[in-house]
Amino acid sequence: AHACVRAGYEAGAKTVVVRWEDDKLTRLNMELADEKDLTAMKPYELRSYLDYAEDPDGCCTLAIHAEDPEALAGLDAGKLNRVNLARRTFMKPWQEYTMNDRVQWCVAAVPAPGWAAKVFPELPLDEAVEKLWALIFDVCRVSTGDHVAVTKARRDRMNALELDRIHMTSSNGTDLTVGLADDATWEGASSKTEDGIEFIANVPTEEVFCAPHRERTNGIVYGTKPYAYNGQLIEGWHVTFKDGVVVEHGAEKNADLLAELLSTDENSNRIGEIALVPASSPINRSGKLFYNTLFDENAACHIAFGDSYPGTTVGGTGLSKEELAARGMNHSSLHEDVMIGAEDSRITGKCRDGRTVPLFENGVWVL
Ligand code: ZN
Ligand code: ZN
Repeated sequence: AHACVRAGYEAGAKTVVVRWEDDKLTRLNMELADEKDLTAMKPYELRSYLDYAEDPDGCCTLAIHAEDPEALAGLDAGKLNRVNLARRTFMKPWQEYTMNDRVQWCVAAVPAPGWAAKVFPELPLDEAVEKLWALIFDVCRVSTGDHVAVTKARRDRMNALELDRIHMTSSNGTDLTVGLADDATWEGASSKTEDGIEFIANVPTEEVFCAPHRERTNGIVYGTKPYAYNGQLIEGWHVTFKDGVVVEHGAEKNADLLAELLSTDENSNRIGEIALVPASSPINRSGKLFYNTLFDENAACHIAFGDSYPGTTVGGTGLSKEELAARGMNHSSLHEDVMIGAEDSRITGKCRDGRTVPLFENGVWVL
């Protein structure tokens, strides 16, 4: 935190504000406080963000995660879900700033002991933490270069295809068709604020992503990596879609948690993002499971249950909720990325002019 404050000032910030949370405090609060008190949000919690976001000089946010993926294991999953839903709903006016790229925002991660122990269970704790630092620097391409340019070129090629839908199959049984929203546009690598400032919203970032049409996803999809939700792990899961809605689902571990997630609100059982990530990504090639969505979502193709990014339909950040819905964009208080890409995934795109174009063979780009 001290290093970030210094870097913030060196980059020209007028004020650098640090907000600190940790797993143990979160667990104590979630375990010991009443649900009604946990959901009784105080205005300052929202204002502490909006006061800066509404400032004519604007603001930037850097969120650094260092979580034990099972920090909340064993706690009441329903309570966690309801509390987080109430919090997200209360904080929505601030979330609109990041979802619409009105401010420069970035999510990154640094090791914490509980997390490092999960990634390197065979090592003594201090060695595991050192190893995780090295791994993060490696997979985030800290020392190598032109990855942003490569991803941008891919994004542009995807947009040039004018796709109507994509179709994904894998030997694990996945057979999924994702129809795209009206005027959907593929994004990737960097984003731009309304003022035209370029920024990178996720470190690492390997994905090229787009908006599904909320009524046009069909078929079955199997998860290919465990998914940490509200501090608990969902493993060996699958879902079946019919006309955009999840009509059947299951999991080998924490199936009830998946059910909670999908029933969070009226649109959390539809998807708001489809993202393509090759199995050749350095995160996947490291062979390590991070149990952290920021990393694992950049190791495999993924879909997100819930909200879509307005910027993934042309001019979407300037549209109202109703206009976005008319284009098939999903709206939810939730946005949860879950990994579906396999080593042998095959993906084809169907263009609006009827052509079929191969996009992925054996888990990697062929476009
Ligand atoms: Zn994504
Ligand atoms: Zn996402």
